[in-house]
Amino acid sequence: MSDLDLAGEEGARDFIRDIVRADLRDGRVGGVVTRFPPEPNGYLHLGHAKAICIDFGIAEEFGGRCNLRMDDTNPTKEEHEYIDSIQQDVRWLGFDWGDRLCYASDYFEQLYEWAEHLIREGKAYVDDLSADEIREYRGTLTEPGRNSPFRDRPVEENLELFRRMRKGEFADGSRVLRARIDMASGNINLRDPVLYRILHASHPRTGDAWCIYPTYDYAHGQSDAIEGVTHSLCTLEFEDHRPLYDWFIANLPVPSRPRQIEFSRLNVSHTIVSKRRLLQLVREGLVSGWDDPRMPTLRGMRRRGFPPEALRDFVRRVGVTKSENLIEVAYLEACVREVLNKRAERRMAVLNPLKLVIENYPEDQVETLTAVNNPEDEGAGTREVPFSRVLYIERDDFMEDPPKKFFRLSPGAEVRLRYAYFVKCTGVVKDAAGNVTELRCTYDPATRGGDSPDGRKVKATLHWVSAAHAVDAEVRLYETLFRNPVPGAGGDFLADLNPDSLKVLEGCKVEPALAEAKLGQALQFERQGYFCLDPDSGPGRPVFNRTVALRDTWAKEKAKG
Ligand code: ATP
Ligand code: MG
Repeated sequence: MSDLDLAGEEGARDFIRDIVRADLRDGRVGGVVTRFPPEPNGYLHLGHAKAICIDFGIAEEFGGRCNLRMDDTNPTKEEHEYIDSIQQDVRWLGFDWGDRLCYASDYFEQLYEWAEHLIREGKAYVDDLSADEIREYRGTLTEPGRNSPFRDRPVEENLELFRRMRKGEFADGSRVLRARIDMASGNINLRDPVLYRILHASHPRTGDAWCIYPTYDYAHGQSDAIEGVTHSLCTLEFEDHRPLYDWFIANLPVPSRPRQIEFSRLNVSHTIVSKRRLLQLVREGLVSGWDDPRMPTLRGMRRRGFPPEALRDFVRRVGVTKSENLIEVAYLEACVREVLNKRAERRMAVLNPLKLVIENYPEDQVETLTAVNNPEDEGAGTREVPFSRVLYIERDDFMEDPPKKFFRLSPGAEVRLRYAYFVKCTGVVKDAAGNVTELRCTYDPATRGGDSPDGRKVKATLHWVSAAHAVDAEVRLYETLFRNPVPGAGGDFLADLNPDSLKVLEGCKVEPALAEAKLGQALQFERQGYFCLDPDSGPGRPVFNRTVALRDTWAKEKAKG
């Protein structure tokens, strides 16, 4: 597909794979170990899908392994709900961590011991400055920081204070443990970063065992080292933290020496990938939940009907680089279509029904026609579709007074009904207000199957359902959640919400086979797009989500006409 070759094909090289290959070749590492380290404070989203595919994908490709590590160092925002959903979502995306589900909180004791080690080496100290003062002393990008008055505390005093911090003798925020590096460093991350803060809060896993918690910067690299991670892959915002990452590894008796490598985040147009903002949408009821089919969360996309292999394919095509980018959401949709085109069974569904009566068709006759389930997959077989005198067609497929290039139904025009017959429109029934409520037609019995023995041609083939056999359904059509490419570019991202992102169609008429649609089954409604059954469906009343529209040839036809 020409519009998708962003970054190249299978086995493509990228700078991270090149580094890994070279590290293996030169014996710097014996094997590849990576990790995917989500903070369990929200649901996984499209951006995480990129990280997951890179972390797990690279480990897989090089015969290594990838750990799933909950980066659970901040007890106040973390919940079991997230820990469970993260595992489900990573599995759904197609990856497996085996028995290597890890938690940063499992390393709290070791991290604590290493903190004491730093104190004993004169490389960490307890600071009594307040958070505001610490910020003020830190300096700016252009101004060096100033040493804290507590920076030169004797080792013994630091040890004693740190132990008392652990015992719970001090109030939240009254003291911190800081690394003693360089307050004049050009890199602000090296200006005596905080290693531990006091937080009298219960942790989902360690309960009340701790009232001091390590910071991300201190915990992350050491967790990598404990797990024997060889390549710690993360996004670019951590680039400036790498010197600190390396400082800890160099100054602690860690069992291995992981290497941090950064790549650019995935940004997709008309979408946000920030857990904080996604949480806000959920909290403020602007979407129905984390799994709202408009959400770029993995569960939202799953409910919408995006196949996991389409997401993997998308990430592969986007590639791995260090340059900031904004990928058109259309690329993602194209990847989804490509997978669904091969897999989705075709069905007929009329979303906006208009009644069509075939006047010369016998009143009580029902014919059973055979329809192909998937022209892309012979193995998908066929199904039977009932045909009768009263049908529904799509209201848009009829125009009483059509422009020149409108080839569908209009008074006097003849079209093909898919799998059935040619019909010709002979009359129109209207209500008092002048709206068309019904079409009268005749059919040509000789055209059964869709071709005329006399070689007569028609220019359009319409989908339809038999009125007496149709199943009533609700159909939900989605557009992007935001109406402009970079939500929030003008300030408030909520102001950019697309008011038309969800359109609910009630009273749709779908073919009987759709009564048996199953959750997770990919469907194509002919001429409309790809759809899937939504869990909101009730018995005898299916609800369908439009996963993605077909490539919009009808809009083009209209534009031409
Ligand atoms: P958020 O910005 O939504 O808070 P986060 O980066 O803080 O996300 P984490 O749970 O810490 O969320 O992320 C786990 C991993 O996923 C990290 O390695 C992070 O770099 C990566 N990641 C998060 N967002 C993206 C993204 N948009 N593109 C690629 N990787 C991402
Ligand atoms: Mg993070």
